[in-house]
Amino acid sequence: MNNFSLTVLGSRGSVPIDGKNFVRYGGSTSCYKISAGDEEIYLDAGSGIVQAVPQPSTRITILLTHMHLDHIIGLPFFVALGQKNRPIDIFAQERSGLKPKDALDRLISPPFWPLKICEYPANVNFHDLPPDNFKIGEVDVQWSDGTHPQGSTIFRLTYRGRSLVYATDFEHSPDGCKKLADFARGCDLLLYDAQYTADEYEKFRGFGHSTPDEGLKVAAAAHAKKLLFVHHAPNRTDDELAALEKFFAARNENVTFAKVGDEIFI
Ligand SMILES: [Zn+2]
Ligand SMILES: [Zn+2]
Repeated sequence: MNNFSLTVLGSRGSVPIDGKNFVRYGGSTSCYKISAGDEEIYLDAGSGIVQAVPQPSTRITILLTHMHLDHIIGLPFFVALGQKNRPIDIFAQERSGLKPKDALDRLISPPFWPLKICEYPANVNFHDLPPDNFKIGEVDVQWSDGTHPQGSTIFRLTYRGRSLVYATDFEHSPDGCKKLADFARGCDLLLYDAQYTADEYEKFRGFGHSTPDEGLKVAAAAHAKKLLFVHHAPNRTDDELAALEKFFAARNENVTFAKVGDEIFI
């Protein structure tokens, strides 16, 4: 199988939202399903993962960029966790001195939730990110550090010569953008944190997010073929997102804003 695709399950930043103004782009927080041949890989486990319909009997891998609530809050509701002995591998970096299992257990355990993740019927294995590149089946995984409070991981997934880069919860800076552009060089698809407009960003410096304007610059420097803006501000309505998308697509026809349900072939 040669398929390599990304499905948007959740692209909202910070907190889930619903209502008639949030239907087209979706109100669920960060989660992207990657299909690469027989591999099923989830980037983050925000509330979007609740809608995931995993293939029967495939191995599942979850790559967590970091432990902020909006990136893990869907995990206790992931349907595959309820499937007896289903193999699920969760990879993340240590954050605030806590290894992935310890960090998740701190929140997903009584009194906040009845079960720890390791007490679900699935066969869950937690992994620190290996120091170097690693493989998930035929998929090569590279990673780099983003700029974000408590840190975030930027992932590059390569399958049969095609690659995507997931750079969410990333705040731009001259050095950080150069490092990201080098890391993302020649990728087929770049997901980039565009939570703020350039005007809004001035009020939120240091919050760990970026803007579409900076994303365009990184994508150009990296020669990324397609650019997908993610981590939409929680209160940004469909009409506002559509207007932003129209504005930025006029500057670069390969730009879109992530919409729930979209499937992008890489
Ligand atoms: Zn986030
Ligand atoms: Zn975050």
